Amino acid sequence: MELHMHSLAVSDIDAFRSRMTGALFVPGSADYETARPLWNGMIDKHPALIARCANTEDVVIALAFAREHGLDIAVRGGGHNVAGMASSDGGLVIDLSEMKAVRVDPGSRRVVAEGGVTIGDLDAATQAYHLAVPMGVVTETGIAGLTLGGGYGWQTRKHGLSCDALRAAEVVTADGRVLRASADENADLFWALRGGGGNCGVVTAFEYEAYPLGPDVFGLAVFYPVEAARTVLGHVRDLGPDLPESLSPIGVLGHIPEAEFFPVEHWGKPFVALVGAWIGTVEEGEQALASLRTLAEPMADLSGPLPFLEMQQFFDEDYPTGGHYYWKSTRLAVLSDAAIDDLVTLNAEAPSAHSTLDVWFTDGGAASRVPADATAFGDRSAPYMIGIEANWHDAATDEANVAWARHCAVALESYSTGGSYLNFPGFAEDGEAAVRAALGASYDRLRAIKKQYDPDNVFHTHQNVTPILEPV
Ligand SMILES: Cc1cc2nc3c(=O)[nH]c(=O)nc-3n(C[C@H](O)[C@H](O)[C@H](O)COP(=O)(O)OP(=O)(O)OC[C@H]3O[C@@H](n4cnc5c(N)ncnc54)[C@H](O)[C@@H]3O)c2cc1C
Repeated sequence: MELHMHSLAVSDIDAFRSRMTGALFVPGSADYETARPLWNGMIDKHPALIARCANTEDVVIALAFAREHGLDIAVRGGGHNVAGMASSDGGLVIDLSEMKAVRVDPGSRRVVAEGGVTIGDLDAATQAYHLAVPMGVVTETGIAGLTLGGGYGWQTRKHGLSCDALRAAEVVTADGRVLRASADENADLFWALRGGGGNCGVVTAFEYEAYPLGPDVFGLAVFYPVEAARTVLGHVRDLGPDLPESLSPIGVLGHIPEAEFFPVEHWGKPFVALVGAWIGTVEEGEQALASLRTLAEPMADLSGPLPFLEMQQFFDEDYPTGGHYYWKSTRLAVLSDAAIDDLVTLNAEAPSAHSTLDVWFTDGGAASRVPADATAFGDRSAPYMIGIEANWHDAATDEANVAWARHCAVALESYSTGGSYLNFPGFAEDGEAAVRAALGASYDRLRAIKKQYDPDNVFHTHQNVTPILEPV
């Protein structure tokens, strides 16, 4: 750490700081230590500088400084990337976490949000008008990394992924230009932003379409004994694309937490749950979801009407900052009974009771209708995405938990399409090969666009694709 500081002249740092509206944190300062940690306590990086940008101009200044001094660049939105891609040892962090403005135009249902906005910030602003942008299911997650990588949540089957709701973006490109990207302006850049990660620039503002929702929704959260896994998961599987699009359920396999809203006799026991929010009225939701609540005798049924803002917080407590996490994913072509049995076995083998295996039902609905070549996100045809979440607290069990998640991914390989979701990237140890596999046919096009906007691969910490050598 000291080494990196010595390679930067104090006068250069001071000049950089004096040009910024926001703050610049250097190692050794209390602010630096407060700003340095990421959400995942497994990650412990020491950047040379953290530029806490206040506006787009600060981003341009920070980018120029990093390039001039040959510093590696990492961009921080919400800091919730599981692989810790929002920081860089010895590099410069372009930290957007204070760029939190959200502007909602209820008439056009357009929402402009700065790059440091979290899902919770966005929901709060949009729910004031009973609107919601399709986002993820934990409120502290940043909208930036989520949108750039895709973005699954309770509205996926009704309105699409977060990146599908993106209508425009303000982007600072590697050469310091500030561009607007939309279907009409820099359309190739706009294509690349929707699933292609932070490869082509720093997004300082996202413009989304929001949809009417709330203030109350009907939430589904029914926990069954794991012995009912074939019945419960098989039921949703068999509905396939006929499942109403107002529901984007997650089938969760885990262990009942020691929490007051679960009967004590079930604490620690394996469960299979269906969780989701009905994207429509409370009355419709109550009726439509009734059959999913009686598939077996539940251990607990927490379903009911609640404010959408509370529904969005349903999982928040399960993901404290500083916990230890390692998440992978795989897309399944089939969810056979044998695959369900394997999920049950893998769940039983988890070293941590906080870990889960999540079946994101992606069969049919708005997200699946977006053509593979319409966005960098690529092919949407896989009907299931399995999130493999190793979540634990005890550092002494790091190895066992990481090994479990990796074992799950291997064990599910025979059902897999070979694809994965890049926002659940392990520690990104599979590198560009994983990005190529996940993006499929989008990969080469993204490389060509990367060549245009970032030929020197300045932005390489997020699901990196190297610029293509020859245009395709
Ligand atoms: C608790 C939790 C819950 C989650 N739930 C969901 C979910 O429901 N659905 C889902 O789809 N995913 C979910 N995820 C995964 C999530 O989408 C990714 O972790 C995502 O990277 C988080 O975005 P962030 O802005 O917080 O990331 P950061 O760690 O800040 O950034 C991640 C990467 O994105 C790039 N980046 C960030 N901001 C910008 C920017 N403004 N411009 C350019 N590049 C940028 C950076 O290169 C960085 O490397 C969840 C993650 C967590 C930790």
